[in-house]
Amino acid sequence: MAEKIVIFGGTFDPVHIGHIEVAQAAAENIGAKKVVLVPARRSPHKQQRPVASDKDRIAMLKLAVMDKNLFQISPIELNRAEPSYTIDTIRHFKQQFGEGCELFWLIGADMLESLPKWHKIDELMSECNICVMNRGGFEKPDFNRLTSSLNIENIKKLRKNTIETPKINISSTEIRQRLMTGGDVSGLTCPAVLNYIQKHNLYSFDHQLSKNEEF
Ligand code: ATP
Repeated sequence: MAEKIVIFGGTFDPVHIGHIEVAQAAAENIGAKKVVLVPARRSPHKQQRPVASDKDRIAMLKLAVMDKNLFQISPIELNRAEPSYTIDTIRHFKQQFGEGCELFWLIGADMLESLPKWHKIDELMSECNICVMNRGGFEKPDFNRLTSSLNIENIKKLRKNTIETPKINISSTEIRQRLMTGGDVSGLTCPAVLNYIQKHNLYSFDHQLSKNEEF
């Protein structure tokens, strides 16, 4: 039987408990023994740059999964020129893991609306399974809204590939905002990641000011 591999792309700025918990639940649901976390250099779907550097985001991911064998981290998108497209990442993993593997690309429900605009979406959907997960704090995925932008077969596929995952209402934005204003973020990301953030003074008001000066 084909090996099932979950690929989870994101900015991970920073990685939080929601990312890890839903990815674990999705892998269990799918029957995959491997989840590859793929930090994005810059999301074509978000205008803002990541606040933390590539090096810091990778370091935090490593800390978040250090005791979890399920996870691997791939720098593929960080090493590629911008803009970086999901279809290229999927083709890279097909080559790396072999054509026989079955790839599952996870997205949170908040990403569904932008999905039809993803580069070469029809090819992407024929080369991997896009799996939509519920996301705490967001509405349930509404596939009817895609009827004018995606073909009916692909909408059917997305419906079929919806994965029930725990609803965890945490976002990286909330963590960054709380840190900027000196708020408490315990319980939103793991202690090792939090230590790293504090040690490197990431996301503080001063850090954001000096980042803005770079542009
Ligand atoms: P930001 O607040 O900076 O936009 P984020 O919390 O959405 O960040 P990303 O790294 O941008 O995190 O997300 C990567 C992927 O993980 C996206 O598909 C997103 O929908 C999904 N995701 C993030 N947080 C959750 C969550 N709590 N539950 C389910 N999916 C999530």
